[in-house]
Amino acid sequence: AISVQHLQMSFGTHQVLRDVDFTVRQGDVISIIGPSGSGKSTLLRCINHLERPTGGAIYYQGQPVGGERFDLPRYRAKVGMVFQSFNLFNNMSVLRNCMVGPMYVLHTPREKARADAMAYLEKVGMTPYVNALPSQLSGGQKQRVAIARALAMHPEILLFDEPTSALDPQMVGEVLSTMRALAQEGMTMVVVTHEMQFAQEISSRVVFMADGYIVEEGPPQQIFQDPQQEKTRLFLSRYL
Ligand code: ATP
Ligand code: MG
Repeated sequence: AISVQHLQMSFGTHQVLRDVDFTVRQGDVISIIGPSGSGKSTLLRCINHLERPTGGAIYYQGQPVGGERFDLPRYRAKVGMVFQSFNLFNNMSVLRNCMVGPMYVLHTPREKARADAMAYLEKVGMTPYVNALPSQLSGGQKQRVAIARALAMHPEILLFDEPTSALDPQMVGEVLSTMRALAQEGMTMVVVTHEMQFAQEISSRVVFMADGYIVEEGPPQQIFQDPQQEKTRLFLSRYL
């Protein structure tokens, strides 16, 4: 489990996160929604320690993330991240993209890493492309490789930051169905998304952020059908 406590993040004088409390438990599928600039990406980046918070703390299994003697590479394997912009290694084949993390971070023997990578690439429907370079793939295909690469690290939790917002409309569906399948298998997921229908359908919990704090959170029926806060209502009314 991950526990975010009184998290604060400022860039200079600009306070981007103010006192965010947030918990991820095993089996949760959490969608984070909210306007542009509300701090959603910053929250995910703090959780993955791509940013160092300026206040509060984040605990992973009781250990402070980024603290002394905290094993960050291992943590990043356990808490994988999928970005809007894919972040694949462009000079490596699809297959190798999915092997290097397990080999160099987890010290998985090459043949085992290869077999695992093949299995995850099959799972996301990318078997025909294992020898392709990322530049030869569509956006949706790249994103499915990025998901396979994260899965190859045997994560406990996957963080997704708007995984479909850089995709052409016809590619969105294939990535959402890959994610839907993961959620149905019980993968613990935190998904920042503007896909409200998808959020409503897959989430166990929806978090609405605005202006650097969590305005409201609850089960999808509550957030989408019966929001308690005016800010939530206003935000959602723009999606109807
Ligand atoms: P979007 O929906 O557009 O992705 P978001 O909710 O993910 O928005 P963030 O990317 O977390 O928002 O940004 C929150 C605020 O923090 C924004 O005002 C942004 O300009 C600012 N910010 C983010 N990263 C940095 C940075 N490295 N340096 C300075 N300001 C930053
Ligand atoms: Mg963002």
